[in-house]
Formats: sequence, C-alpha cells, structure tokens
Amino acid sequence: MKNKQCPVCEKGNLIEVDDIISEIEGHLFVQKGERCSACSEEFISEKEGQRMIEVSRKLGIWGEPLKLHRKLSRSARGTVLRIPSDIEKNMHLKGEEEILISKIGKNKLLIEIGV
Ligand SMILES: [Zn+2]
Repeated sequence: MKNKQCPVCEKGNLIEVDDIISEIEGHLFVQKGERCSACSEEFISEKEGQRMIEVSRKLGIWGEPLKLHRKLSRSARGTVLRIPSDIEKNMHLKGEEEILISKIGKNKLLIEIGV
C-alpha cells in the first residue's frame, strides 16, 4: 500500500477509490482515482480523465461548462493568454506544467496540459 500525500492540504493521504462522480452538463461519470483522507479532494487518474474527455466529446458536451471568453494580450515576447483562475483551480495548475498547443481548424487551439 503506497502512501501518497495530498498536494492540496498536505495533511491527508490519497486513498484509491472507484466512485468519483464528475458531472458534465448533467451527465454523470463514475471514475477511478484517489481521494484525500483529510480534505476529500478527489484526483482522477490521467487515463480515466482522458476517457471522460473522449466520451464527453462523443456526446458533444465537452468544453461547455468551462468555456470562457478571454482576451489575448501582447507582451514584448509575443501574444499571451492568461488561464482563468477557475480553470486553474479546476485543473490544479501550478503554472509550471509543460503544455502542448495544437491548432485545430481555422480558429481553434487545443491546449493539453502535462503531455
Ligand atoms: Zn487533502
């Protein structure tokens, strides 16, 4: 049994569970992952998260709850997109992740975190 410390509260241990419920646009997904014994924060494994994204894409529901309008800004080194804090929180971003940006279609960018 591995003891992983919760990165959110840094008090509890992460316990493997298989009943994490995520809701996207009224669709419920039950997933495997880990839950903190202290603060109950839930972490979905990357594989499960990917599966949920695929299923929700098929259902045409992915992206809607977290689709936000943001303006790009200019810095001396190029165009900058600030990640909204609610997405940051939702995805547990620390600001040091590697990302992959793909151009899909004429006016769409796909940003993948931690690939
Ligand atoms: Zn915790």
